[in-house]
Amino acid sequence: MHDRVEEMHPLAVRYVVYPVYNFIQGLKGYKTAKYEKELMESQWFTPAQIEEIQQEKLRLLIEHAYKNVPFYRKLFDKLKIKPSDIKDIEDLNKLPLLRKEDIRKNISAFVAKNIPRKNLKPMMSSGTTGKPLKLFKDKDRDAWRAAARHRIQKVHGFEQGDKIVTIYGYSFPRKHLFQGAFLKILRNEWVPYGYDLSEKMIGAFVKELEKYKPDFIRAWPSSIYPLAEFAGDNEINLRPKNIWLHGEVLFKFQKRLVEENLGCEIFDVFGLRESSVYSFECPEHTGYHLDAENGVIEVLNKDGEHVSRGELGAAVFTDFTNFATPLIRYVSEDIVVYAGGRKCPCGRGLPLVIKSIEGRFSDCLSTDNGFVLPKVVVDLFSNIKTIKNFQVIQKAKDKISVKVEKKPDFSSSDADFIIGGIQKFFKSDVNIEIEYVKSIPLTASGKKRFVISEVPPKFI
Ligand SMILES: [Zn+2]
Repeated sequence: MHDRVEEMHPLAVRYVVYPVYNFIQGLKGYKTAKYEKELMESQWFTPAQIEEIQQEKLRLLIEHAYKNVPFYRKLFDKLKIKPSDIKDIEDLNKLPLLRKEDIRKNISAFVAKNIPRKNLKPMMSSGTTGKPLKLFKDKDRDAWRAAARHRIQKVHGFEQGDKIVTIYGYSFPRKHLFQGAFLKILRNEWVPYGYDLSEKMIGAFVKELEKYKPDFIRAWPSSIYPLAEFAGDNEINLRPKNIWLHGEVLFKFQKRLVEENLGCEIFDVFGLRESSVYSFECPEHTGYHLDAENGVIEVLNKDGEHVSRGELGAAVFTDFTNFATPLIRYVSEDIVVYAGGRKCPCGRGLPLVIKSIEGRFSDCLSTDNGFVLPKVVVDLFSNIKTIKNFQVIQKAKDKISVKVEKKPDFSSSDADFIIGGIQKFFKSDVNIEIEYVKSIPLTASGKKRFVISEVPPKFI
């Protein structure tokens, strides 16, 4: 099999293959196409109409959770709350936060009793640290999630059949070629199985990409970055219509280089693997619209209170779509800036809940005065032109280890600059050690972490 299956004609995908696939999926019980149509319409509803949808979906979720999920039944009874006490989003704060540890302790208490076992599909939580959490989902949840994802793509001009390339991670094992061919036929989507992003392979891959001329690219920031660097250095002109990024914080230096070298706009999407509630940038770039029909994202401070517009807080998810293991006020370990639920000039009624995504708890350094966000650390290193790559690891409150991949012109004054810069984050003296390395490993899933705190600050 060729590494890249020849592309399908966009119209064949749009008018034949994809509708047939949707029809078959419909027979299997997936209502993705129906939900997608609903979401495409409801995004233009007024905020009040969208709130009404939310209230109704919240009511259904809460009633279901109380009736069928042992954990919630026990919780409500203990708190002496009835499902009818949770009427709207504000009432959610009558319920405690749900942490991964709570679920891990007793997963069976979170599984709805009324859903036949054969309809439950396992899913893993996202997260770069710790053990992923195993949860369950059903068909309806998958359909809502896919519908929400498709809507985001359409917001940016995508039409079924347009050519997409998906680049998540660093390597794309050949063994998935068959699965890749399926995606290609079904959605005109190319996942570059058989390639990786190493120096040896990236040239061949970027050249294939140049021939393929994707309309859209979906990627993680750390996987698109080397590709954009290569394209820039070799004057390769890709110019897709735009790029959707997610899965990691998008740093300024990455956004700048990728937009410049690939000649297109970037739109960032935020979500969790275990949730259907996405949050996405529209063409106005005014913040992140909430997929409000699928759920709620609350932004809370250390005391569990809602933060004010412009303030940082932890993102807490309530997902209306997963009846298999309902997640109500689920703490995600992501830090975001609250946008205040404003309305966007694009006219969509979906509120702007998030202003910016700042990273996960364990991406932040703990200091005497609180914390340092990964962006601040990355900015410090962006000023040093003599390093190829770096990673800052906080081993203890007063112990920092810095891994550096240096370029030939790296000097001792650069090392002093790093030590001095990091020390400035702290009031008292910290032990900072630099280790010079040949390469810095990625996470198991192929993501890049610039900062790792083994003693993360407490955000909630
Ligand atoms: Zn907008």
